[in-house]
Amino acid sequence: MLRLLCVTAHPDDEAGGFGGTLLLYAARSVETHLICLTPGQAATHRAGAQSDLELAAMRREELKRACGLLHITHHECLDYPDAGLDRVDFNAVVGDLVRRIRQIRPHVVITIGPEGAITAHPDHSMTSLFTTAAFQWAARSNRYTDQLERGLQPHRAHKLYYATALFTLPDRQPVSLAPVTTMIEIGEELLEKKIAAFKTHASQAPLFPIFENATRKRGTHEAFHLAAAITPRYAEREDDLFAGIEDKN
Ligand SMILES: [Zn+2]
Repeated sequence: MLRLLCVTAHPDDEAGGFGGTLLLYAARSVETHLICLTPGQAATHRAGAQSDLELAAMRREELKRACGLLHITHHECLDYPDAGLDRVDFNAVVGDLVRRIRQIRPHVVITIGPEGAITAHPDHSMTSLFTTAAFQWAARSNRYTDQLERGLQPHRAHKLYYATALFTLPDRQPVSLAPVTTMIEIGEELLEKKIAAFKTHASQAPLFPIFENATRKRGTHEAFHLAAAITPRYAEREDDLFAGIEDKN
């Protein structure tokens, strides 16, 4: 069975950036995994929550429902600080991701681009940097050796992709996006399902119109940049994240 791992920063990133792709591969019997680094406790829109803890609990529940709609096989929401990923211990986060990559053993890893996606959120940039290091280091016998002593094996995923886009938002900090190498056609039905998944994040309801607008503008495709691959190559246009990968554990 093929396995896909998606790493995001906040509850709702999974639907916004990756929803159609996650649905598409679940429908193709790929095992899909999501790791969200923060429970989104620093959000501007707080839905009446009295504390960060209360908002975090609310958003974890919303994420669980979204993952259900996106047919995600397994998800985990870690407890790193929302709006603070640029100040956490780099090695601790990368180690957490390396351990999960060695456990899940994904063939393909997808995450946000280092620019921070079209919203330019610093947490998004950090998620990209952590995941990029974890993708490379999970494969090495000399990184996080304590995990290997406890029985895990190094794992070399075949490919790493960054989500990217062919447009930017005019009212945000500037972002320089990675070129599109891989266009995933999701179709009208999955587009609607992805919007529905985003709307399970009810605490963020004030964002729904902006999200829906941007998502419809993006249309029935999700764009990715092939950032790393197991075999050296020239960049090529692809329409499948698993192109060239055979199912061999
Ligand atoms: Zn986000």
